[in-house]
Amino acid sequence: MEYKTLAEAYQAIENTSKRLEKTSIISDLLKQTKQKEISKIILLLQGRVFPNWDKTSIGIASKLVVKAINKATGIDTKKIIDKFKKTGDLGLVAEQFTKKKTQATLFSESLTVEKVFKSLKKIPTIEGTGSVDKKMQIVSELLTSASPLEAKYIVRTVLEELRVGISKGTLRDAIGWAFLEKKLNFTYKQEYNIIELEDRDKYNQIMQLLQDAFDLTNDFTLVTTAAINNTLHTIKPEIGKPINPMLCRKEKNIEEAFKRTGKPAQFEYKYDGFRMQIHKANNTITLFTRNLENITTQFPEVVDIITTHVKGNSFIIDGEAVGFDAKTGKAKPFQHISQRIKRKYDIQELAKKIPVEINLFDILHYEGKNLLKTPLQERMDLLKKIIKEETKKIVFTKSIITDDDQIAQQFYDDALEEGMEGIIVKDLKTIYKPGGRIDAWIKLKPVMEPLDLVIVEAEWGEGKRSGWFTSFVLACRDEEGNLLTIGKVGTGVKEKKESDDDLTFEELTVLLKPLIEVEEGRTVKVKPNIVLEINYEEIQKSPSYTSGYALRFPRVIRNRTDERDITNISDLELVEEFYFAQK
Ligand code: AMP
Repeated sequence: MEYKTLAEAYQAIENTSKRLEKTSIISDLLKQTKQKEISKIILLLQGRVFPNWDKTSIGIASKLVVKAINKATGIDTKKIIDKFKKTGDLGLVAEQFTKKKTQATLFSESLTVEKVFKSLKKIPTIEGTGSVDKKMQIVSELLTSASPLEAKYIVRTVLEELRVGISKGTLRDAIGWAFLEKKLNFTYKQEYNIIELEDRDKYNQIMQLLQDAFDLTNDFTLVTTAAINNTLHTIKPEIGKPINPMLCRKEKNIEEAFKRTGKPAQFEYKYDGFRMQIHKANNTITLFTRNLENITTQFPEVVDIITTHVKGNSFIIDGEAVGFDAKTGKAKPFQHISQRIKRKYDIQELAKKIPVEINLFDILHYEGKNLLKTPLQERMDLLKKIIKEETKKIVFTKSIITDDDQIAQQFYDDALEEGMEGIIVKDLKTIYKPGGRIDAWIKLKPVMEPLDLVIVEAEWGEGKRSGWFTSFVLACRDEEGNLLTIGKVGTGVKEKKESDDDLTFEELTVLLKPLIEVEEGRTVKVKPNIVLEINYEEIQKSPSYTSGYALRFPRVIRNRTDERDITNISDLELVEEFYFAQK
């Protein structure tokens, strides 16, 4: 298929729910794209203008887009808002009203990918007085030149909600189909929605190569260039650029964990802190969270500790930062240190009040050598050689190696006794799999696993709670990134803050107000941005929510927006896994 514009391709992708068909459309689009535009198209297909590892956001609220539509089309603001309330999608509103736009704007220059891309990238750099108006101006200029279909997707891209249903897996496959077609040796039969493969193993191997390249770089643009130039196998971790951290699967007990990892296995404490990936090169130390966010400035004391306690000029090491009370020395649960991740001022003071201890458990790169394919045991041996341990600063994760169920159980009990979340059981022979949730790392935790869910709707309270939102509709995601509702929660949120850990209705209301998209009576739809960690007693099947599941007695544990966004909240697969696991 030939696509005249990117918008036309978006439309075709949005119009089908079949993954193979989406893959085929994207691959056709990529094949017809000129070399110099490929990287931009790859980003725009993800609804982005900044690379995946770059956390810069366009940062434009719906209100400003309403103004831009008004300016570009001459349609009354109230009309625009009314339509928005009905559809909940400003993209659709822009599409409809652009059709009706007045004569005066008909002869504008037409849009190029280059122009859209450049304009959108400029938006976050505009600062100072009049910046809001300048930003609005950029969006309205784009809309003035846009066809109705283009207007729809420009608005959605500006609001960072493309909603055409392209998952990372689909994009990866499409890049393969477009640029490694001969090697993959397949035929796509649209009428039956199937692919026929000459050699399934080879096909899977090549797709895995693409996936590995992505997990190492978090950059589909780079992966695409490598696919085109046939250099996928040479992609290496780059110090200073975060690697997707390896993750764990969950199991019920020691016996089941051993089945996955084999015997003997390494048992480690599971600390309740947050993941920290530490890079050093050319005397520069960089710290990243699990979400690949750069948090170097927020943790100056960690930079100092790494400088003095880790031998080597270049490395990437992996661990968990655990907060503790400066006075008592006692470990503090994650909620306490979350403020350090956000803090932009008085950083030194906060670092003194809530210091962190780094608990290291892995090394991925050392003095120019990539260790991802080196077995865990060897990685641990090296890590031990290069770290000078010091309590409350930098230590190894507490661990044992055993093949004995009873010794392992005792270790697990001790961990819980000491206030750990649980333990992690690791296969000693396996490689470090970036982004992988595989059988090599198994977590054991006693309680029902909480879910990370995003707020999509909120309801105003009544009586003395009438100034706050007091009830929240939560959603998980599916593989394509669509949000599916799964329950409603109010419990767990406090009226008054009694301890630092408490999350109050007022705090949530302040966070949600700027995100309001549509108001209907006492309910508001909000831009999905606030992620809560939720406990519950049981997961049940339910037709009331679009996920098909509902949570029984859900309870808010904490705000997890610092570590999670809509791309990595709990997915339907996980919900289903928990649903079956509880039986
Ligand atoms: P979860 O977030 O429950 O899936 O658990 C995985 C997280 O546990 C990792 O991303 C780390 O932040 C944390 N963690 C704590 N201790 C360890 C450990 N010894 N090995 C690996 N991850 C750990």
